[in-house]
Amino acid sequence: MAKLAFMSDASPELLATPLKSLPGLAPRARQLAKLGLRSTGEALFYFPRDYDDFSDLRKIAELDDDALQTVRGRVTEIDGVGGGFGKSRVGVLIYDGSEHLRATWFNQSFMRDKFSLGQLVQFSGKPKQRGGRWEMSHPGVAWLDEGEQQTPLTLVPVYSSTEGLTQFHLRRAIALSVDHCADAAPDVIPQRLREQWNLLPLGDAIRKVHEPGGADELASARRRFVFQELLVLQLALAARRYQQRVNFSAPELACDAKVSARIERLLPFELTAGQRQAIADIRADIGRSIPMNRLLQGDVGSGKTIVALYALLICVAAGQQAALMAPTEILARQHAQTFAKLLAESRVRHTLLVGGLKPSERKQTLTQLAAGEIDLVVGTHAIVQEAVEFARLGLIVIDEQHKFGVRQRATLRSGEKSPHYLVMTATPIPRTMSMTQFGDLDVSIVRDMPPGRQPVSTYVVKSDDRERWWQFARNQLAEGRQAFVVVPLVEESENIAAMSVDQAFEALTNGRLAEFRVGVLHGRMTPAEKVATMADFVGGKLQVLVSTTVIEVGVDVANASLMMIASPERFGLAQLHQLRGRVGRGSHAGYCAALVTDAISEQALERLTAFAETASGFELAELDFRMRGPGDLFGTQQSGLPPLRIADLQRDGELLAEARTAAFNLYRDDPGLAANDLTLLRKQMLSRYGDALALGDVG
Ligand code: ADP
Ligand code: MG
Repeated sequence: MAKLAFMSDASPELLATPLKSLPGLAPRARQLAKLGLRSTGEALFYFPRDYDDFSDLRKIAELDDDALQTVRGRVTEIDGVGGGFGKSRVGVLIYDGSEHLRATWFNQSFMRDKFSLGQLVQFSGKPKQRGGRWEMSHPGVAWLDEGEQQTPLTLVPVYSSTEGLTQFHLRRAIALSVDHCADAAPDVIPQRLREQWNLLPLGDAIRKVHEPGGADELASARRRFVFQELLVLQLALAARRYQQRVNFSAPELACDAKVSARIERLLPFELTAGQRQAIADIRADIGRSIPMNRLLQGDVGSGKTIVALYALLICVAAGQQAALMAPTEILARQHAQTFAKLLAESRVRHTLLVGGLKPSERKQTLTQLAAGEIDLVVGTHAIVQEAVEFARLGLIVIDEQHKFGVRQRATLRSGEKSPHYLVMTATPIPRTMSMTQFGDLDVSIVRDMPPGRQPVSTYVVKSDDRERWWQFARNQLAEGRQAFVVVPLVEESENIAAMSVDQAFEALTNGRLAEFRVGVLHGRMTPAEKVATMADFVGGKLQVLVSTTVIEVGVDVANASLMMIASPERFGLAQLHQLRGRVGRGSHAGYCAALVTDAISEQALERLTAFAETASGFELAELDFRMRGPGDLFGTQQSGLPPLRIADLQRDGELLAEARTAAFNLYRDDPGLAANDLTLLRKQMLSRYGDALALGDVG
């Protein structure tokens, strides 16, 4: 096999050396194998989970209790008891001119022979004071040469280990492997990129990650590995975008002044500047034969539905079919009603396709869609999942995108003819997330709100204020307003203080809201029951709706002014903001109460206070991301992408931006990554993301 030019000259066989053939490792081979470590090459990439910082060098007299510190002194006494097959203890006393410290080892009688009187040694560990004297048990040890002043190692790696394998042996196995073959591992990142982005060569990075000379070295090693991981992801996203462009073609949906005038006549209000800009972006995209792949972000209530309708109508005017999908049947019906009103005077043939249709209605709708007799269909996500056939689908809009991962998008896009694709979300996406989970999409953001919208007044209501709040709520209801009460989803098995929906409903109907008409909505109801309850609420038959977060997304009830959230600490900030956005949508001011108990933690209270004080969903999303990480926003498993192993999006945002630039530049200059020195990078990209992103063979 021809050796790739950029591979190190060292023989790749070095990497395959069995660990058990290295000095002293044979007896540990079984435990090492449990960690997946059989060869030296595997050991190179077994990264530390943490580091012990041995750089805090102290005089013994100045030690603090229980924090990792390092001392140096001369051995003044060595003693040991037991040994053989019984329990043993070895003690070594050192003196550093200020005080004595005693190190002890249990059941490691061999330690006794490692010390001699008068020797200069260094101990690192967490000291404890016992009987007026400092002790360390099982400290890390370094034997210092006479006159040696520098610390041999300041950061010592800590690896995830397994039973019967000490850190000492694991470190040794890895250190031996690093010595043996660190420079033999082929570098996935070619030199030109390393130079451009200031990245260590692989061998150096491996050495520095396992044996860092200090925090700076560790940071530079980490930079290289994080960059690599993010680069591979970004290349995959770039590949996906590129493939969309070359492999698929979409109908050109032209929109001239006449068409736009006709559409705008149907709209009941002036578009905001943000809506106009988003429409302009979309219009430019769908006018071309390259399939649009766009994410529309806009805070709750910013008016995304109209933007969607505009795009859908351009599509219909161009003679193609258009589809809008919503995550729930309630939302789909709501959109269908909105459209029905606005399209009353137009000739657009539109219909609703949801699970709750009668079989005959459903069959008819499907037949008409396949025959091209319907222009615009509004439905639940099931529309695509069930492989509904369209005669000529030109545009798909998906509302509330965050429920949808990259993988679903990948399958959606397969097929011969490709529609244009617009996804909308009211959950503002932190920049780092839009570069990963949504990294294959173009982004439009609606930042303004329709005129006259007032921010929802938000309060964190503690038990002292409870009575006052409910009085206020009853007054609002008596004046004809409506209210949501949202309760987090509680698993039966959860042994916590949070209430279930049913409990909350019981408590309210028999207590604070006894004189009002209260309904309940939860996940165990059938779609038909949910729709009926929702209709009762929208129609005013119910004044209060107690529910789980099924109402979270999109529901638009103009008369609702109150949003009360029980156990609010169980929701993410972005989700709370979504909930708050359900009220104050009509002409009545909106009020939101986060109902907290006295048991709430300091930290949770801080988060909720931030929520109450911040009106912008975008600011909240960034805040949430910083405080809780990406998981709670979108559920990483929903993204359809394999999780990142070393990169931490909260911390590595800047590196992510660099890796994205690097990847997109590489891909632009060399679509398919055909250059010789990119072979390994390309392979890594395909093996990691090929399936998730349906990449097929690149290039
Ligand atoms: P979201 O972006 O949360 O989906 P919607 O599309 O549901 O928001 O719009 C929220 C409300 O604002 C709706 O009642 C809608 O009719 C109204 N609306 C949207 N755009 C405008 C506008 N330009 N001027 C006035 N009202 C608008
Ligand atoms: Mg919406």
